[in-house]
Amino acid sequence: MENLQPSGSFKSRGIGHYLLTQLSTLSPSSNPHIFSSSGGNAGLASVHASRALSLPCTVVVPFSTSALMVSKIRTAGAHAVIQHGATWADADAYLREIVMPTQHRLSGEVGIYTPPFDHVDIWTGNATVVSEIVNQLQGVRPSIIICSVGGGGLFNGVMQGLDTLGWGHTTTVLALETAGAASLSASLAAGHLITLPGITSRATSLGATRVTAKTLEYAQRENVKSVVLEDHEAAEGCVMLADEERVMVELACGVNVGLLLKGRIERVLGRTVDKEERLVVVVCGGSGVTVEMLAGWREEVTEVGALPNGNGHEA
Ligand SMILES: *Cc1c(COP(=O)(O)O)cnc(C)c1O
Repeated sequence: MENLQPSGSFKSRGIGHYLLTQLSTLSPSSNPHIFSSSGGNAGLASVHASRALSLPCTVVVPFSTSALMVSKIRTAGAHAVIQHGATWADADAYLREIVMPTQHRLSGEVGIYTPPFDHVDIWTGNATVVSEIVNQLQGVRPSIIICSVGGGGLFNGVMQGLDTLGWGHTTTVLALETAGAASLSASLAAGHLITLPGITSRATSLGATRVTAKTLEYAQRENVKSVVLEDHEAAEGCVMLADEERVMVELACGVNVGLLLKGRIERVLGRTVDKEERLVVVVCGGSGVTVEMLAGWREEVTEVGALPNGNGHEA
């Protein structure tokens, strides 16, 4: 239930660990300033971590970032939120080439650049989700772990955590993407890293056009399966979580729950799932969700004959 993290998503794990590692290399007299380029949950996680460390954090987001997320990042206590460029790549370049050098020149602060997913320290932080799962299962190996993939930082953490326990080739890992954001699925089909020309899914937190090299490598293992669902199937997952668990999450997270509905997971696995089986869904969370968005998804899934008013679905 990563939606319960102070920043609203699992990103606190990776970014928290990354920042502590970066800070440990600095001299005590230096004046650090955190910089993050992300429109969404990574920016929010950076600000929450920086506040916990009493450090300033500047976030650069592209114009595609919603007003809701900009306002949440501001309210969380960002030093500054700057909107620049059409895409994350534009915002990121502006952050590294203009914002960070300018801030350093003006204030003498040491800038710490925080990437959203492509760093081994981020994966190590995300891997803590696996040790917690195993504690909760009292050491029993889960047979299936379900998690979604944007750039692959969460998935890499799950695989790294499983490897540490010697389960990296036995536990089945289902790597979920939505159609229109399926950069891992495309890379697997091609046999090499593919950069998508654009993102057409509404699950924007999965909207990395290219996964990390390590993500493709892990996903080529036999026990890993890439699964792509439609946005409306992710919406079903969000509606189901709200109805059954009183929990609000983004489409990027609902996709994992959508897989459990309407016999989809059985079709993906080619077998039934046993009642006694340990199946773990990483509810990755996300702050880009409102009651109004959920109401829209409810209408959408009812129209396509998905969940009749939230009742009667098979789970
Ligand atoms: C960032 C994010 C993802 C994808 O994580 P990656 O590490 O980029 O693969 C999934 N769900 C939510 C809610 C996110 O914020």
